[in-house]
Amino acid sequence: MEYLPNLVFVLALALGIGLFVRNAKKIIRNIKLGRPVDVSQDRAQRWGNMARIALGQSKMVVRPVAGLMHILVYVGFVVINLEVLEIILDGILGTHRLFAFMGPAYDVLIASFEILALLVIVGVAVFWIRRNILKLLRFHKAEMKGWPKKDANLILYIEFVLMLLFLTMNAADQQLQHLGAEPYVRAGSFPVSGFLLPLLEGLSVPALIYIERLAWWLHILGILGFLNYLYYSKHLHIILAFPNTYFGRTRPQGAFDNLESVTREVKLMMDPNVDPFAATANPAAGVPAKFGASDVMDLNRVQLLAAYTCTECGRCTSECPANQTGKKLSPRKIMMDTRDRLEEVGRNMDANKGEFIADGKQLLDHYITREELWACTTCNACVQACPVSIDPLSIIMDMRRFLVMEQSAAPSDLNNMMGNMENNGAPWPFNQMDRLNWAQENQ
Ligand code: SF4
Ligand code: SF4
Repeated sequence: MEYLPNLVFVLALALGIGLFVRNAKKIIRNIKLGRPVDVSQDRAQRWGNMARIALGQSKMVVRPVAGLMHILVYVGFVVINLEVLEIILDGILGTHRLFAFMGPAYDVLIASFEILALLVIVGVAVFWIRRNILKLLRFHKAEMKGWPKKDANLILYIEFVLMLLFLTMNAADQQLQHLGAEPYVRAGSFPVSGFLLPLLEGLSVPALIYIERLAWWLHILGILGFLNYLYYSKHLHIILAFPNTYFGRTRPQGAFDNLESVTREVKLMMDPNVDPFAATANPAAGVPAKFGASDVMDLNRVQLLAAYTCTECGRCTSECPANQTGKKLSPRKIMMDTRDRLEEVGRNMDANKGEFIADGKQLLDHYITREELWACTTCNACVQACPVSIDPLSIIMDMRRFLVMEQSAAPSDLNNMMGNMENNGAPWPFNQMDRLNWAQENQ
């Protein structure tokens, strides 16, 4: 019986981590459904991007209030979770405040954890007010109804409760230290939870131990639960922002990817120096099975990783000129739809022993409409605005490429223009031979 709490703790820990690993494997499997992409170039730049954008939060502070609050919550949450290491070791070994031997350094650590916990509570409160009282427009667009709204608020509530449990645990511990109860050795400095002491005054030692243990258990179980909630939440970005900023684009934003096979054909047509026999020696090389993307499997792995990384912050949508002028397009919705469809494909595979069975659906039309795709001006404002280096435009362009090259389904104005490019080498409906007619007319 003496070791029962340790046993329960180890089982809870194993279950929490086991479920997390299972979900992480699913995410990796789903991302691998995408096309491989070469990210071996620009390593130094990629590491720099990750350090600056994900770790340094450099793009968050473009909007100072949200940026500062986000940094507080992020740093606070990460640093306080260092304390989880002590909790885990205490839970496994049956000790109490294992790191107390650090003396003054331990006091400084606990004090800084408490101050950060308070700052997290302030940050969470500001976020909640912005979302629910001030009702910032970008948090109330059409794609944010239902689960995305609930998810955003649930994250705030969980973080608030976890911080409150941490402070309650410390306050009860502090009171037990004052009363000289075993095994509550004098350790730690409590600049924030000290203010909760009046609430605990007069309580007996057993009652205080009950409160301290309850807060301790709920805190660690809450963290394990939150770890597994990430899979279902936009909060996954606290992990995926790092790989996403590493794998994000390093080329200038205006540079579009060309299809190698198409480039070769165009060169054959336009460049007199290209040897046509050399170019057609292996005509199948580089010819994709399908041009562009109509479903998630046609996108590349970086795009699918980005879909899981999207924080649903809506900065992209609030900068999007198409959205601002009342068009149906929202780049945030493009990312959310991509994730939803990818999850649907993943569930299909789970239900069919790892194999995807055609379900008569696809990303195009069933999630993202043609109207949305053609509303994009390709301005890159969404890419510039994204705080975690997501490129919604690349998905839009790949889906447009499918419409144009596989279905010839571009809007008629574009089809006319492209027909002219093909026939006349220019977007206008005039023969190349007539190009200089204007000079004659003015004579
Ligand atoms: S590139 Fe397209 S989706 Fe992105 S901001 Fe511009 S118009 Fe909107
Ligand atoms: S794509 Fe980027 S800017 Fe847009 S909602 Fe997602 S994280 Fe925010």
